Amino acid sequence: MKMLTPEIKQRVAKLRQQLQKANYAYYVLDNSIMEDSIYDQLYRELQNIEKQHPSLITPDSPTQRVGDKPNSRFISVIHSIPLYSLENAFNIKELKEWQERWQSYYAVSNNEKIDYVCELKIDGAALALTYKNGLLIKGVTRGDGKTGEDITQNVRTIQSIPLKLALDNSPTIVEVRGEAFLPLDEFKRLNVEREEVKDPLFANPRNAVAGTLRQLDPKVVSQRRLQFFAYTLHLPQNNSLNSQWESLKWLKNQGFLVNPHRELCPSLEDVVNYFRHWEISRRYLPYMTDGVVIKLNNFGLQKQLGFTQKFPRWAIALKYPAEEVITRVKEIIVNVGRTGAVTPMAIMEPVHLGGTIVQRATLHNHDHLTKLDIRIGDTVIIRKAGEIIPEVLRVLPELPLLRSKPYSMPSHCPECGSMLIRPLGEAVTRCINISCPAILRGSLVHWVSRDALNIRGLGEKIIVLLINSGLVKSIADLYCLSTENIAILDHIGQKSASNLVAAIENSKKQPWARVLYGLGIRYVGNVTAKLLADNFCTVEKLSQASIVSLSLVPGVGEGIAKSVFNWFNISENITLIKRLKNAEIQLQTYDDLIPKTTSKYTKILNKIFVITGTLSTLTRNEAKKMIEIEGGKVTNSVSSNTDYLVVGKSGGSKIIKAKTLGINLLTEKELLSMFD
Ligand code: NAD
Repeated sequence: MKMLTPEIKQRVAKLRQQLQKANYAYYVLDNSIMEDSIYDQLYRELQNIEKQHPSLITPDSPTQRVGDKPNSRFISVIHSIPLYSLENAFNIKELKEWQERWQSYYAVSNNEKIDYVCELKIDGAALALTYKNGLLIKGVTRGDGKTGEDITQNVRTIQSIPLKLALDNSPTIVEVRGEAFLPLDEFKRLNVEREEVKDPLFANPRNAVAGTLRQLDPKVVSQRRLQFFAYTLHLPQNNSLNSQWESLKWLKNQGFLVNPHRELCPSLEDVVNYFRHWEISRRYLPYMTDGVVIKLNNFGLQKQLGFTQKFPRWAIALKYPAEEVITRVKEIIVNVGRTGAVTPMAIMEPVHLGGTIVQRATLHNHDHLTKLDIRIGDTVIIRKAGEIIPEVLRVLPELPLLRSKPYSMPSHCPECGSMLIRPLGEAVTRCINISCPAILRGSLVHWVSRDALNIRGLGEKIIVLLINSGLVKSIADLYCLSTENIAILDHIGQKSASNLVAAIENSKKQPWARVLYGLGIRYVGNVTAKLLADNFCTVEKLSQASIVSLSLVPGVGEGIAKSVFNWFNISENITLIKRLKNAEIQLQTYDDLIPKTTSKYTKILNKIFVITGTLSTLTRNEAKKMIEIEGGKVTNSVSSNTDYLVVGKSGGSKIIKAKTLGINLLTEKELLSMFD
């Protein structure tokens, strides 16, 4: 057990203060002052501290209470049976721990069949409805679980709540519980209307439902078209229902709306499958859900397990992973990207987010960082922008630890030491030293990436080694590497080195659009690269295009057009293109070389050529193009399909292979004579 320090006590007080404020806003004012996932995380933190230091638990701690006291606009009603909350699990491991927990109260005997009922967890507001002799007589909110508010007049306006039960022989008193919710369409419509009359917007459908149910005028409620899914039934003693599954059926037969996506699962494995299925499918539902509720089906078992102070032991809510989480900033650093852009980054305590562990998040630029006033020591909310790049959304100012001074961007590049500049009107600070190792490293990492040249095995670590050893000073240098000079680098064996050379060689087959994307021209992502490659089928055509003709390509705006135009006006870039061409990188589309079905050069048509060594009057690429224009094909390696091997100066091992396979060898002169 950890020692109880003054810092821990202080943290507990802060967490309680925050959670109490949030509870009041959420349960009493129908307003959210923080995202649910953030609330859940703070709650968990408090719960964990209290678990380690039980002496800190007080009866008014948010972990000991359900909801909040109702406000006084409606008459208070004491619930005949309390409305409990549900214990939360945030992953499958916690679900399994719940199973172990309930099994510690009840030993499952051999061959005993335990069923679980899985239901969607509807994000709305719980209601308790009382029926006397088949007629609805009361509708009450959950309140703090013990006392709720009598909102019967409002409940009567909800169309999916029957005013009279359908079956004649219903027991004298029936209590039905379920979730009132607002379909997403209705929620949107409501907010549009509120915007028009300048009323404050509802933050989410859950707040809108809770706010609507507490309207004093039932007419307003009836206009909002709330709905209700029934999920719990309390009948007087000695009824014939033995399980949750049977109750749901009973409710349906009595005219209630019961969610159709419920499932009876014979094992925890089936529960997990249900959860995974709805993780995706819930996006297409017309209402909000935030998890699934798993209940032990058998009422006898439920009774044996009973309740804790806050939850039933026989049920759990398994929540979907948060899209926003909190963590603490440990350090702020800057990262120099391949375009020279200097991006501040927060280094944080590792945290699970959207299926991965995140410890770095972008702070975008100096303005963003200053606006959010992010400092080392801050508790921050992070999310994944576009579901990929973690970014810091905001600071939780109520939960500071030791805050550092405001962060200021460095004046010099941390990689090459040259002065950083911030061009007028731009938000981004840049290193403009084209020899900056960070820019070269970034360019290479981009070039080898999956959507670009996809060179497997060439990760950032090896790239850094290659740069530091002086072997690679430009992208084109990758194509001059040999197994021997890679193998002498730190910890790279002969085999890995030869695999790497093969992967680099293989990348020469990547099409022109990928190569263009790999060049890392500003604003040219892989979609734009494809558009440009489709419209400019050779690098020559693209490099000669004017800004106007570039912007005529649908989907290419002026910003992209200028960026491409400027890129081809830099002499270093032209040198790079020349070197890539010599290295036989695809700088054109094959559509430009539509295979011919006829040619007067019948010795070329439909024949497969391989070229080895250096030719004296043509470059290899020129020879290739000549052959392809006349309907021949040029491939990289000799196989039994090859018709001719064209041999230039210092031709290599391909000659031996061709001789072994009995393939015709051609000199450059003999090749040219085929065009006579
Ligand atoms: P809960 O929302 O985690 O779960 C219990 C509730 O689930 C029930 O009361 C019921 O209303 C609902 N539910 C939906 N479908 C159900 C089904 N099929 N079967 C049974 N119940 C079903 O617990 P809670 O005590 O109502 O609220 C706690 C949660 O509320 C927190 O975890 C947090 O996410 C949110 N909260 C947020 C803030 C905030 O400031 N954002 C403040 C307080 C609470």
